[in-house]
Amino acid sequence: MRPISLYNTLTRSVDPVVPLVPGVISLYTCGPTVYNFAHIGNLKTYLFQDLLKRTFLAGGYQVRHCMNITDVEDKIIRDSQADLSPDAGNPERFAAMKALTDRYTAFFLEDLAALGILPPTYTPKATEHIPDMIRMVQELESKGLAYSRDGSVYYRIAGLPQYGRLARLDRDGMKQGVSVDADDYERDSMQDFVLWKAAKPGEPWWDSPWGHGRPGWHIECSAMGISLLGERIDIHSGGVDLIFPHHENEIAQSEGCLGHPWVNSWVHGEFLLVNGEKMSKSLGNFYTLRDLQAKGYDPRAFRFTIQSNHYRKVLNFSFDGLKAAEQALKRIRLFRKRMEGEGLPGHGEWKASIDPLERVQTAREAFWTALGDDLNTPEALAALFTAITDLNAQDDRVALTRAERDAVLAFLIETDAVFACWPHEEVETDTAVAALIERRKAAKAARDWAEADKVRDRLKEMGIVLEDRKDGTVTWRKA
Ligand SMILES: [Zn+2]
Repeated sequence: MRPISLYNTLTRSVDPVVPLVPGVISLYTCGPTVYNFAHIGNLKTYLFQDLLKRTFLAGGYQVRHCMNITDVEDKIIRDSQADLSPDAGNPERFAAMKALTDRYTAFFLEDLAALGILPPTYTPKATEHIPDMIRMVQELESKGLAYSRDGSVYYRIAGLPQYGRLARLDRDGMKQGVSVDADDYERDSMQDFVLWKAAKPGEPWWDSPWGHGRPGWHIECSAMGISLLGERIDIHSGGVDLIFPHHENEIAQSEGCLGHPWVNSWVHGEFLLVNGEKMSKSLGNFYTLRDLQAKGYDPRAFRFTIQSNHYRKVLNFSFDGLKAAEQALKRIRLFRKRMEGEGLPGHGEWKASIDPLERVQTAREAFWTALGDDLNTPEALAALFTAITDLNAQDDRVALTRAERDAVLAFLIETDAVFACWPHEEVETDTAVAALIERRKAAKAARDWAEADKVRDRLKEMGIVLEDRKDGTVTWRKA
């Protein structure tokens, strides 16, 4: 297994990752709150986590990956309940919440597929783990780390000596006995945070020892992480905005219950800016993946834009940058095609000739050394691009043999296992067609005939003819 080091927010240093179970990495990544489309800043985080996971897989490890779906939360309730009458019953409130979250979960999974993000081993929904959350809150109460008030339950942060360690908070700033109900708040209001929220009128609720209510956002991840990955986890990851309060609170809840350290490495990805500014709807610089697709950009070019940048550096997204990524990708894809084909004969000797096999081996070592050093993608890609320059020049003068071309191809396939941006082209068509067929199936199931027709037209443009079989399956062929 290849050694891999990551910057650990807990220690503030790049440390080698030594899995708890040899050869197996347990990875928890905070998933989306499904009340809207993911924006490109959210997607930056999921893309860096996919690269992290693929680097371990390529290094010979198994990865047990859990990514939660937050399907009960303040904003979900706000948006899903708005049109209901004040005297709607709880089943009706649940149905409205589920309709909204199912819809955006499906869109989210479509985005992940379009970006080539590998599906997690587990994708639990918060609403499927309410009993686990209630049990944890009870455990914290029994240990004196939580107290209830007016049907809500709060974490007593003064009770946990390590509270504030991850975010390096000054414990003197702790507001003892003051509690906060919102799930998200600023560093300077370090307070007792909410674990269980009493239901207000017009909100969906579960029964609990404290009356009708629902879980706070932070307890959701602790409960799902422990129940699916166990009491000790190798890596927990999210965007830097989650360090405080979300991850600090996850540690407090989990370690408060377990009585021992929970996560070995905390790994955080930096922000994305658009043209140097924070993305916001009011500035008109707010984009989803669908916005980029509608402008005709390949989702894989967006993936490449994100991955060419080191995950711990702020990425300044621009359409010029996206176009440059498209060009860089085109270079690798054309090179792959060239290596898949045969060299042109008759170019003869070249006094600057290199040994292609040696050249590939040098690039391979540099590539994996860079990725193993805190996922240094800019350096890994530099190793790949200089090899492409050298090998193209060589192939211009002295055509590479079939065996040499195959060695180069093996390296390209190996590197694509991490970047997922330069596949063999026919494979790409197959995946795109399969995704569109699925989308059409979903549209038909939802009786959205206009959407189903639109997808069929899109396939027609791609030169694909669909054949609906009597048994309900769909086959396709090139026209
Ligand atoms: Zn989380």
